Amino acid sequence: MDYQGLVEEVYEQIQKENPRGKVATYIPELANVDPDQFGIALVDLEGNVYGVGDYQKPFSIQSISKVLTLTMVFHVFKSKLWSRVNVEPSGNPFNSIAQLEYEKGIPRNPFINAGALVITDALCSKFDNPTQRVSDFINELAGRNCVSVNKDVKQSEMDHAERNTALAYFLKAYGNFENKVEDVLEVYFHHCAMEMSCEDLAKSFSFLANDGYSIFAKRGIESESHARRINALMLTCGFYDESGEFAFRVGLPGKSGVGGGVAAVLPHKFSICVWSPELNEKGNSVKSIKALELLTDKLKFSLF
Ligand code: GLU
Repeated sequence: MDYQGLVEEVYEQIQKENPRGKVATYIPELANVDPDQFGIALVDLEGNVYGVGDYQKPFSIQSISKVLTLTMVFHVFKSKLWSRVNVEPSGNPFNSIAQLEYEKGIPRNPFINAGALVITDALCSKFDNPTQRVSDFINELAGRNCVSVNKDVKQSEMDHAERNTALAYFLKAYGNFENKVEDVLEVYFHHCAMEMSCEDLAKSFSFLANDGYSIFAKRGIESESHARRINALMLTCGFYDESGEFAFRVGLPGKSGVGGGVAAVLPHKFSICVWSPELNEKGNSVKSIKALELLTDKLKFSLF
């Protein structure tokens, strides 16, 4: 398969169509990014990288980090984790608080904010120096020291933390939060403020395309059964309340973030990351989703 030709063809076609959206505006650091940036990196299971555009430029990974913190916590707590967080798509905005009340403090899934806060809380219960542990883990997955944390993004997130703070206290009120709210939020914003390139993110997600084994870390990261379950969660819950639409149009397990990135995998074939900052009204990158749709159409192959 000529993956380099494929990503270039997709890139050219999307650039020609030039679909537009709006960059995230809830913090100035994201509102001020150059909206025309666009990159694609595909990594096959031999570790070859096929890239085009801004694929080596670091960007704010935001909620894509939630897949990797989930991986760390799932590995430790195994199926016990599912007593604290469910595995159902939410069909509600990612920062919804109403649903948490109906479901008595058990978030719908680990990728909406309430669920991700439970995951970060579990991370804080298990590890000393959790911020360092998360960075070390992701660097290991990428096979090099590539993770940097944008301190301005982290600070801005903390300055606008009203909703996430409310979610955390709400979880605590239901007995589903073990640590100090401020401590957990700091770790949560730390991993949301990480910056990585498409190439490094695609490498970090490679173990999910490879039954849990990372060729970059040179070790098994997760069991094959856990890797399958993380992929199932990405397929059903990875795109806020547009997860069904993404499964329908693209058909790959993936996770998006409000920085405009999407990381996805085609199990037993490749991992891929696409980045372009302009988002649709559901908070997903317009060009990244179009690019992945075109790519699976051209491949005539998806999970299905
Ligand atoms: N830092 C963001 C928040 O928690 C994450 C947004 C996202 O990428 O979904 O609000």
